[in-house]
Amino acid sequence: MVVAGAAALLAAVTVAGCRDAGSASPVSRTQLLLGTNSTIIVHGGDPGDAVFDAAFGRVREIQDKMSLQYEDSELNEINRAAGREPVEVSEETFMVIETALEYAELSHGTFNVALGPIIRAWGIAGDNPRRPPDEELLELLELTDYRDVELNRDERTVFLRREGMVLDLGGIAKGYAADEAARVLEEQGVEYALVDFGGDIRAVGNRRPDGERWRIGIQDPSDTSRGAFVGVLGLEQPSVVTSGDYERFLELDDEVFHHIIDPETGKPAVSGLRSVTVETDNTMKADIHSTAVFVLGLERGLEYLEQLNGVEAILVTGDDEVYLTAGLQDTFELRGDGRYTLMQ
Ligand code: AMP
Ligand code: MG
Repeated sequence: MVVAGAAALLAAVTVAGCRDAGSASPVSRTQLLLGTNSTIIVHGGDPGDAVFDAAFGRVREIQDKMSLQYEDSELNEINRAAGREPVEVSEETFMVIETALEYAELSHGTFNVALGPIIRAWGIAGDNPRRPPDEELLELLELTDYRDVELNRDERTVFLRREGMVLDLGGIAKGYAADEAARVLEEQGVEYALVDFGGDIRAVGNRRPDGERWRIGIQDPSDTSRGAFVGVLGLEQPSVVTSGDYERFLELDDEVFHHIIDPETGKPAVSGLRSVTVETDNTMKADIHSTAVFVLGLERGLEYLEQLNGVEAILVTGDDEVYLTAGLQDTFELRGDGRYTLMQ
């Protein structure tokens, strides 16, 4: 069974978004894009269909360049030319891959967009999920070194040095798309909105129309069916992204396999964390950090976060402990019916 966690998070946003007394109800639209429910909620008045269409149109452009599922994407052109030749790509695809590689270094390889062969073998988000045998994973791991991705800035080309390599931007493209959708909304005159692309959230406007902070419910990893929260975060920065083991997973013979891969083993990361939520000023980067910290685990994850500026996080462990970085002490409110303990 394959389940996407987008619906749960969406509920979180809507509930926490609150209705402002006296002002218009929020207006929302959802489209299936980038393999997830992509929702835009505009507050403070209906902007009209053309505005939603412009924002979603921009997301579709990104999807058509960066998605593995779309045969003709630039990403698939790069992948098809693996071991053969460099492929010229658009400025934005180049920038996204360049950024991904920069953080691959910083995260000790835990954020790795070259994991495509492994992710394909598991097929967790696809129609034929399976558990690949260890020998197969070991062989495929040979093809997942991100240092074998060669970028040429002047030519704007990407080259995968070895045949069989596959880039997968699933851990970063949604975040970039959320940034771009928000930018389009602002350009179109929208002052207040939340963009929620399967758990990658970007706010438009520092505050809600009623002057309060945007409030985002952080999904309880142990109670996804009810859409319960570990807590609620009042936003200081516009981007909030969660990576959790409950978002996409596959159940086989009573074992549950989630979608975030540890590049050392080629298997779903077992780091002791159940979810990582990152708040910062750029959704693409929040997307990277949440995945990286999930793989790194509590201690190494907190160390990684410390070397970054302006990046805050909420880490939920398998022992129901909740860790916050210093900047969130006053803006995160614990919930979860006493299940969780806030660690100081
Ligand atoms: P996220 O939901 O943002 O944590 O990203 C998970 C998605 O990114 C997966 O569905 C894969 O497509 C891809 N992915 C899985 N593991 C990794 C990893 N260690 N580094 C980069 N991308 C990954
Ligand atoms: Mg991510």
